[in-house]
Amino acid sequence: MVRTSDKFPGVEWVEGTGDFIKINDEKCTGCANCIKVCLGSCFEIISQKAHIKSLETCMECASCWYVCVEGAINFNWPQGGTGYKSEWG
Ligand code: SF4
Ligand code: SF4
Repeated sequence: MVRTSDKFPGVEWVEGTGDFIKINDEKCTGCANCIKVCLGSCFEIISQKAHIKSLETCMECASCWYVCVEGAINFNWPQGGTGYKSEWG
């Protein structure tokens, strides 16, 4: 099943891609770099730790993993390769 969002015209997500981003609470310092860089607004800070709010609008860009200098974000491509498609390739 394909899902779209009014917030991101031209983008489609395929459901059921699994849990491909995980945050290690012990390593997270709550710096909020992941929140600042995330186009999909996927994270929130609770009690000075990052948590995944929702991956529904995740673009699979891996920027969160890249900016996390603590190595607290474990990023893998979604099961099956990708759950995200854009009309721009
Ligand atoms: S960038 Fe890393 S250390 Fe900073 S809040 Fe996000 S997960 Fe935590
Ligand atoms: S992969 Fe990109 S869009 Fe997805 S949670 Fe990380 S920064 Fe946000």
